[in-house]
Amino acid sequence: MQVLSVLIQHAKTSLDRVFTYLNPTPEKVVPGCRVLVRFNNQLLMAYVTAVGETELSMEEFSSVNGFAARPIERIVDTEPLLSQELMDLVDEVSDYYLCPRISVLQTMLPQSLKPSYSSLHGPKIAYEDWVELLDANEEGLTAKQKEIIRYLAQNSPILKKEAGSAAILKTLAGKGKIRFFKKEKVRYQIPENEKEREPKELSQDQLAAVKSIYESKKRVVLLQGVTGSGKTEVYLKLSEKYLSEGKNILMLVPEISLTPVMVEYFSSRFKGEVAILHSGLTPAEKYDEYRRIARGEARVVVGARSAVFAPLDNIGLIILDEEHVESYKQDSLPFYHAREVAIMRANRHEAKVVLGSATPSFETKARAMRGVYGLALLPHRVNKQILPVTRILDLTNRAAMMPNDRVFSKPLIQAIKSRLEKKEQVILLLNRRGYSSLVACSACGHNFTCPTCHGNLTYHKEDSMLKCHHCGYVEEYPETCPECGSDRIQRIGFGTERAVKVLSEYFPDARIGRLDSDVGKAKNNIAKTLRSFRNKEFDVLVGTQMIAKGHDFPDVTLVGVLLADIGLSLASYRAAESTFELITQAVGRSGRGEKQGEALIQAYNCRHYAITYGAKQDYEGFFLKEMQQRKISGYPPYNYLIAAYFSSKSEEKCIEASYEVKTEIERRYEGKATAIGPVSPYYEFVGESHRRVVIVKTKNPAEIKPFLRELGQKLSGKNGVDIIYDVDPLDY
Ligand code: ADP
Ligand code: ZN
Ligand code: ZN
Repeated sequence: MQVLSVLIQHAKTSLDRVFTYLNPTPEKVVPGCRVLVRFNNQLLMAYVTAVGETELSMEEFSSVNGFAARPIERIVDTEPLLSQELMDLVDEVSDYYLCPRISVLQTMLPQSLKPSYSSLHGPKIAYEDWVELLDANEEGLTAKQKEIIRYLAQNSPILKKEAGSAAILKTLAGKGKIRFFKKEKVRYQIPENEKEREPKELSQDQLAAVKSIYESKKRVVLLQGVTGSGKTEVYLKLSEKYLSEGKNILMLVPEISLTPVMVEYFSSRFKGEVAILHSGLTPAEKYDEYRRIARGEARVVVGARSAVFAPLDNIGLIILDEEHVESYKQDSLPFYHAREVAIMRANRHEAKVVLGSATPSFETKARAMRGVYGLALLPHRVNKQILPVTRILDLTNRAAMMPNDRVFSKPLIQAIKSRLEKKEQVILLLNRRGYSSLVACSACGHNFTCPTCHGNLTYHKEDSMLKCHHCGYVEEYPETCPECGSDRIQRIGFGTERAVKVLSEYFPDARIGRLDSDVGKAKNNIAKTLRSFRNKEFDVLVGTQMIAKGHDFPDVTLVGVLLADIGLSLASYRAAESTFELITQAVGRSGRGEKQGEALIQAYNCRHYAITYGAKQDYEGFFLKEMQQRKISGYPPYNYLIAAYFSSKSEEKCIEASYEVKTEIERRYEGKATAIGPVSPYYEFVGESHRRVVIVKTKNPAEIKPFLRELGQKLSGKNGVDIIYDVDPLDY
């Protein structure tokens, strides 16, 4: 009989060990397959990590080993799901990120192959569910239901998964408000190319960068190039080189729908050899693409974060474009960063890693300066376009503001006006969505907050709802205060929706578009909006940080940053870095064509170095200044951080456990590590659980990690406290 060591599907620290089951069937199981098992009276999926043999019967085996051995219920796969390389990678990622091994597997595999029970019902054939609005009458509906009806009124018919909560949709269908229908999915098609992406003749700078990366002895090379310096052509040329050597390419981008151009370039240059792992793909399409890569039918894989786990073999080159972007770090278990995992994979394949950015992350830049990574530079814009002229505008100077307006200054309105007259385009960045970010009663001071997260609710004018941007809670915008009954409800603060409204009052004839994650809820909307803006169907595009990334709009000659310093008030050690990046990336969108660009940056705190260096696009200056701050405060890259999150229904137990861990670390690693906290994390409540976080700062994480892992496993699950780690957290 086979003896199987398995991991159970639940990603809990306390279950992160192998359990033993017996396989009484004549069919043989190999490591890397899934089996169904009974665990605590539940039928669960399990993932086989090792296989042994026993001559004993089930009873004998039980009495020899001192526990009641159980048989598996069913074998699910006959072939291993992962190559040996990826199986080993699971262990490496789990050891580095102190996360349950099963959580890495869940992240790695497409839905139908995940070690979870629900994967059994995952798609094998390719149909999609759609929703159509039948009746927009809202009488008797709850706020959540109305939100969906109002959304459908604008977007019906729409993919069911893009329409909102499945449970609410079901109720609405029951009421006859909407109907579901199935449509055969259109197999993913690489977007129509606007123009053929012919290879360009590389500039001297680009040639030098290609050569220096290719010849570098370092595993990882930073390609630091100002915005518009032509990094894409460098990626393409390097890819050609490695492909011609018989090697395969992994190309990572922060978010596919925001960078359709990268997909176009790669798919038109390497026709037929490209697979795309796109979050907009249906589970069935993803499954198809995944299997296609695993069968070796694609030599180039383009995708976002999780594509770093693509089952591509024989990798020669891994590229991360815009490597500084935060979306490369997953903000839930296993909390991995695609850059770290890319390097782990490159080590196994002896491949090259290229990290491209105009504003590299501090970790990357510091490693390049110390010679741990190679460094290649693209210091000039292609075609010698000069960087835009920038001006900083002081929002506290009321005389410079438009009358009764705290967000639009006179110079900005003037600058927009002149662009509209010249038929040039304008981008306005406001990193906050919705209409008003604070809603309060001016009679009694009642604040409208989220009952779950306790944060402020944001007013959305489009559907007249109050929404929590953290947990998705919605309620109807009230006409009177629930506290005192007054109708003097005030909306304070400014989001993208309101910016569009105000702007259309100043410029009634202008065509104004908006891009933020509300618009982007339906995946194709992002690409559609970007395409229409590029085709000059809008004059002005207002948006959140989504519009600051990597796009190339030749007719944009003005970029305005409305409230450049909103991000500085966040209590994150990376607040200055994020603000600087956002400004630099936004300013870099201006003047990418023939014409000279201009950028206006409006801020309250306009002497802050993140703003002044951002306006000058002076990355090196900012880096040196901010590094001094990091050194004083001991934040990365001077130290590594590990955040330990504790959660429990009992606040007392939660606090108790967090002090226990803090004390234990400080006692054992005196002088080598410090533990800050426990403090309340950004999300202090999740569901019904209280949370605390302890942040470990250390120069030598490898020494402490095994101990933390042990401690986590020992304490997790006890007294109803759960511990999870976020290694290298971006915030907490
Ligand atoms: P980055 O990613 O560094 O901001 P891009 O790769 O988007 O820059 O390139 C900026 C623009 O320059 C693009 O429109 C691109 O087509 C063009 N470009 C890049 N390299 C060349 C070249 N060698 N000759 C002509 N145009 C180029
Ligand atoms: Zn009131
Ligand atoms: Zn909430």
